[in-house]
This record gives sequence, C-alpha cells and structure tokens, in this order.
Amino acid sequence: MDIDFTENILIEPIQSPILAAHHIHLNILRLDKIHPIISGNKWFKLKENFKRAISLEHSTILTFGGAYSNHLIATAAASKLFGLQSVGLVRGFHGKQIKTTTLLHCERLGMQLHFISREDYQKKDTEDFIAHLKNQFSNPYIIPEGGDNDDGIKGAQSIAAYIPKDSNLVSLAIGSGTTFCGIRNALPDHIAMMGFPVMKHGEYLHQKMGKNINAGLENWQLVTDYHFGGFAKHTQELIDFMNDFYNETNIPLDFVYNAKMMYGIFDLVRKNTIPPHTKILCIHTGGLQGNSAIQNQLQF
Ligand SMILES: *Cc1c(COP(=O)(O)O)cnc(C)c1O
Repeated sequence: MDIDFTENILIEPIQSPILAAHHIHLNILRLDKIHPIISGNKWFKLKENFKRAISLEHSTILTFGGAYSNHLIATAAASKLFGLQSVGLVRGFHGKQIKTTTLLHCERLGMQLHFISREDYQKKDTEDFIAHLKNQFSNPYIIPEGGDNDDGIKGAQSIAAYIPKDSNLVSLAIGSGTTFCGIRNALPDHIAMMGFPVMKHGEYLHQKMGKNINAGLENWQLVTDYHFGGFAKHTQELIDFMNDFYNETNIPLDFVYNAKMMYGIFDLVRKNTIPPHTKILCIHTGGLQGNSAIQNQLQF
C-alpha cells in the first residue's frame, strides 16, 4: 500500500487570552490536514484494515455508519483510491430515504448504500448477520462501525509518533474510544490523557476502553459532561465557541467532535481544573465534512 497522507500533518501553538492568563501551553496536532475527506483519525483506523483486506485479496469493503458518518465517507474515499468496491450499510430507514450531503458524497465516491432498520443495525456484529452479508455481497471485507477493531487500534497507535514527548496532557474527542486506546497504548504513562465522549452517558465507555488499554497504563480519564445534548447535537453556545475559536486561531473545528473537546479544555482551564504550566496537546481528529449540516451558522 503506497498511498500515504501523513505528510501534511503539523503541530500549531494556540494563542488565546484565557490560556495566557492561566499559563497554559496548548498545541494542536492537525490530523484534519491529512485529506479533505479521509480526515484525521479515520485514516489511521482504516489503514491496517485496508492492508489486511488487500493482502487477503478482497475486492469489496463493507462497513456501517449513520447518515453523517465520517467513517462511512472516509471508507468510500479510501476504497476508491485503492481501487476497491465499497458498500455502506446506513442506520435508520424512514420509508422514502432523504440523503444527507455526506451520503450523496459517499455515492459519488462509488459507495453502494443500503439502508437498514435500527433493529437490524443492532444485529450488525452478530455471526448470523455477518454470514448473511458475506453471502449477499460476494464476500466483502467487513470493517465494523467506526473502524472499531484490533486493526483500528493498531493503526491509531502510530498517531503517538507525532506527539511531542514533553507534553503533559493529551486530549481528544471520543466516539468509540478506538483512537484513544491506540494512542494510550503507545504513549508512556507519565503523559496523562483526557478523552471527551461526544454522546450522552459516555461513562459506559470507561469499562469497554479499559479492556483495550494495556495493563499498567492508568493515567487516563474520560470527561463526560461536554456532550451538548448528545451525539451530533449542538447548542448556540457551541456554535459561538466554534466561530470565536476560528476567528482567534484560523482553525476550523467540527461540531460533532472537536468543538466539544476544545470547549471542554477551555472550560477546564477557566475553572483551574487543569493546573498552570501544563503542556497540553489537543488532537484535531478532523471531521470537517460534517459541518455541512450546520454550514449556515458558521463564519468559516
Ligand atoms: C470518528 C471520530 C472520532 C472518534 O474516534 P473513535 O476512535 O471512534 O473514538 C473523533 N473525531 C472525529 C472527527 C471522528 O470522525
């Protein structure tokens, strides 16, 4: 596999009066620069899966996602680049399906979409359902939702190589936790990690992620109260924060993941929960394509 998107990755310092007043050093790792569509952590989670699919000579990739899924569109774009067919099973069927910008884009990238009911979607990881899919779609290589498997964790480990070793705290948004676990396993434990689940009741992830984090690595926590109403939900306050952040730094954030994490970091700094002189490294995991859903509210 000779396609590599990592050359555009960079680290930038974030300047802001709040950070200066609290003597906080904040750098951001711009994984969003990887590729306009296969952005951020999704490429890292996909790359080992694609290597495996290609070495096993599969000609089709099949995966799952919602109507705004960054994972679905990243899989569609990567499949196209690698000359593979792609099939996307989309959660939620409401009679006549209205396609989101994300789904239309997936189709333009050659992905074949199938809409399945929420009940069927729940069964997607069962043996029966997978056997049925292999049959129906001529033996595709199946990647779970969000790239949430061992290859996904393994791929995410290589993000750690971009993290300056003098960082005290690494922070990122969490969906399945796959990216976080990969990075945690690859960083020394004296670097603390903070994850911001972007959905309600994110506490449940603690146990699941604990199983994927190597023994002896304990310097990590989940901060669960910056979900802004739930997955892909937002408030005016969040939108205002995104616009202010952009005007101050020239860095666009996505409203589903990175804006919530960054808002949380600024709030914890403001509340002195993060002590002065901490060197924070925030990971911009990308996802900017998802902003098409709220474009009219953004100043960028
Ligand atoms: C999918 C995604 C995440 C969450 O990654 P997980 O590995 O599922 O925790 C974070 N940020 C963006 C932009 C994403 O698309």
